[in-house]
Amino acid sequence: MSPLNADLHCHSVVSDGTLTPEELAARAAANGVELWALTDHDEIGGQHRAAAAAHAKGMRYLTGTEISVTFAGETVHIVGLGFDPDDAEMQRGLQQTRGGRGGRAQEISAGLAQAGIPNAYEGALKYVGNPDLISRTHFARYLVEAGICKDTNEVFRRFLTEGKPGFVPHRWANLKDAVQWITAAGGVAVIAHPARYRFTANEEYALFTEFKAHGGRGVEVVTGSHTTAEANKYAGTAREFGLAASRGSDFHSPDESHTDLGKLPPLPADLVPVWDLLADRIR
Ligand code: AMP
Ligand code: MN
Ligand code: MN
Ligand code: MN
Repeated sequence: MSPLNADLHCHSVVSDGTLTPEELAARAAANGVELWALTDHDEIGGQHRAAAAAHAKGMRYLTGTEISVTFAGETVHIVGLGFDPDDAEMQRGLQQTRGGRGGRAQEISAGLAQAGIPNAYEGALKYVGNPDLISRTHFARYLVEAGICKDTNEVFRRFLTEGKPGFVPHRWANLKDAVQWITAAGGVAVIAHPARYRFTANEEYALFTEFKAHGGRGVEVVTGSHTTAEANKYAGTAREFGLAASRGSDFHSPDESHTDLGKLPPLPADLVPVWDLLADRIR
């Protein structure tokens, strides 16, 4: 039996993707995805649409979100899967996490103005599908449009990462809270793309240890943001910490994402797939 084609990480216009939930569902199904989750940043407003679109395309569906967390001074992303999208505590927690984005965006714009790029807030807003969810990605799209950089990667490198003029340090949710919102709503918490954080070995060990202690149960092993070597490394971490493994493209846009929906290697066969923990949450 061939392994299940599950893609449990991607973004729509409800956060910083460029496709609607329906367009993503159609693309995922065309690429052979059998089990899908839409995981918009800090937002679950697209969940009912995504589930309906998945079912219309013959896919099974898990609810999803990607929560921004601050841990050891660094932003960490926690993917939640299979939770009740109508859970009031989860909705309140996400709303609180989104809360600072508007003011932060004004500060990003002020930093860019000082670097000689005026009106970036207004420019970014043109790309925003959900006014609560203005993100660095929307600024990056505007700076490409304005001809300042050739692609969004260059914008992040030159303007939007630590030490650069449009970088604004921000306090997101606590690790413990994020894991508990997801778990109390019946879902499973997963550490997203662990190779992308700039942690020392000790900090990373603390992240996995605390995540487990709070009830976290999964880690993304195969993701569009990992090389093969990184996937192998975090397969080892999954074994060491007894975590289930997840698989997701982190697709944002046909023009920007190098990994398409469903186009990923399978998980290592000895790992427990995270969807095995969620059999009764799949719709
Ligand atoms: P924010 O939540 O506003 O801090 O924005 C974070 C988002 O920016 C991530 O979810 C990615 O979509 C995007 N991003 C982060 N780093 C990069 C990068 N180096 N190149 C392109 N996009 C990035
Ligand atoms: Mn994103
Ligand atoms: Mn992420
Ligand atoms: Mn993501």
